[in-house]
Amino acid sequence: MGKVAVAFAAAAVVAACSVAAVMVRRRVKSRRKWRSVVEILKELEEGCDTPVGRLRQVVDAMAVEMHAGLASEGGSKLKMLLTFVHELPKGTEKGTYYALHLGGTYFRILRVHLGGERSYLDVQDVERHPIPSHLMNSTSEVLFNFLAFSLEKFIEKEGNGSNSQGVKRELAFTFSFPVKHSSISSGVLIKWTKGFEISEMVGKDIAECLQVALNRRGLDMHVAVLVNDTVGALSLGYYHDPDTVVAVVFGTGSNACYLERTDAIIKSQGLLTTSGSMVVNMEWGNFWSSHLPRTSYDIDLDAESSNSNDMGFEKMISGMYLGDIVRRVIVRMSQESDIFGPSSSLLSEPYVLRTNLVSAMHEDDTPELQEVARILKDLGVSEVPLKVRKLVVKVCDVVTRRAGRLAAAGIAGILKKIGRDGSGGITSGRSRSEIQMQKRTVVAVEGGLYMNYSMFREYMDEALVEILGEEVSQYVVVKAMEDGSSIGSALLVASLQS
Ligand code: ADP
Ligand code: MG
Repeated sequence: MGKVAVAFAAAAVVAACSVAAVMVRRRVKSRRKWRSVVEILKELEEGCDTPVGRLRQVVDAMAVEMHAGLASEGGSKLKMLLTFVHELPKGTEKGTYYALHLGGTYFRILRVHLGGERSYLDVQDVERHPIPSHLMNSTSEVLFNFLAFSLEKFIEKEGNGSNSQGVKRELAFTFSFPVKHSSISSGVLIKWTKGFEISEMVGKDIAECLQVALNRRGLDMHVAVLVNDTVGALSLGYYHDPDTVVAVVFGTGSNACYLERTDAIIKSQGLLTTSGSMVVNMEWGNFWSSHLPRTSYDIDLDAESSNSNDMGFEKMISGMYLGDIVRRVIVRMSQESDIFGPSSSLLSEPYVLRTNLVSAMHEDDTPELQEVARILKDLGVSEVPLKVRKLVVKVCDVVTRRAGRLAAAGIAGILKKIGRDGSGGITSGRSRSEIQMQKRTVVAVEGGLYMNYSMFREYMDEALVEILGEEVSQYVVVKAMEDGSSIGSALLVASLQS
């Protein structure tokens, strides 16, 4: 071999070696990047961990805060608001009633016709529309004009058939935001939540705002009750089953109400009702306890929200926020490695990953996770390998599992407060027959997150049994109430007339 040939051969060997070295370095680098992503996942799992011991601490904290909120005004982050609802619909109501419901994402209008027996509940013309986003930071006049206009259209459609002439239509206004009531049909807005920001409305009487807007349009409607959505759900639950004493909503936001003895509402001494009880709107979205498992994603989400330092529990368990927690984890992973390809500017947009997309990815049962791939592509992240798609599903699982389990702890906290959790029975060895004396308790649940996200529901149900134990859980029935917050409010109006 000539000198030149030897030099060529040597150069080829050197080149091959350096290519191999580059490939090895790349593989090592990519393995290191994958490891850092797995590390982020592990950290998330640890941060979101909810062993039953921790859930029980949340249960206790919820019960303690409920006591504190009932004891004095401002005594707790839980406002424990009076609703002035002390009789719930029994099933004997008659007539035609209307409901308008302003939720966090949707508004709904419907009419119910009642025939005097439970089985004669006829829910008619349910209309459900997204709330136009410009209304969320408009003015009270613009918002209420829009609602009145929508009601007018609804009434126009029904013709003359549903209302005998000259009779005023009785309307329930279901308003899913915190209100300080002075009666069942009046109350002022305490604060906005769920991204609404019409500051001049804080302190205004909500029912009056609607009534004025209705009058302005010449609509012959009377705002007969102003209720929280949870109270609506409780009313429908009770109408069907009088063992219903708690109602919880998991929709855009989250909240709960329950039937409380008036003598336990210490901050309102002398409160007298014929039934001896009153529905209390907990506003549990604002619950907080150091036992809640909080991650850096929660802290950042809160800091960047329009209501920071507020609604901490809601931000961990409700539909408005779960998607954004998942998004934040994915963004962090994509910053630490290139497994998601070049960084997507779309994904850095807050709230772009909505919770219905989280459930669609989580529940994707196609073999190659095509639904996950499609959703990620829509978010500007395309061509991600299967193992990365699996990782995304895992992130959805961790965030939703924590939400479902904390939701269960919240419910168990209410049951503890009203003595329906069997406590004492399990730990201090109460006899079997005493446990069987436990009253049947129905918890009415509604909201888009609960109704549409089966993994959330399953995690919640599973944790409730874990917390309460098999025996006590047999007495606790969780019942889904589709559109309960709107239908139930209309039933409440009916019960006031009869
Ligand atoms: P509102 O909060 O306006 O009363 P809903 O109770 O219908 O309305 O809840 C709507 C919210 O429920 C959505 O904003 C979303 O967060 C959540 N949601 C709706 N559909 C799904 C779904 N398929 N999976 C998960 N969450 C969902
Ligand atoms: Mg709702």
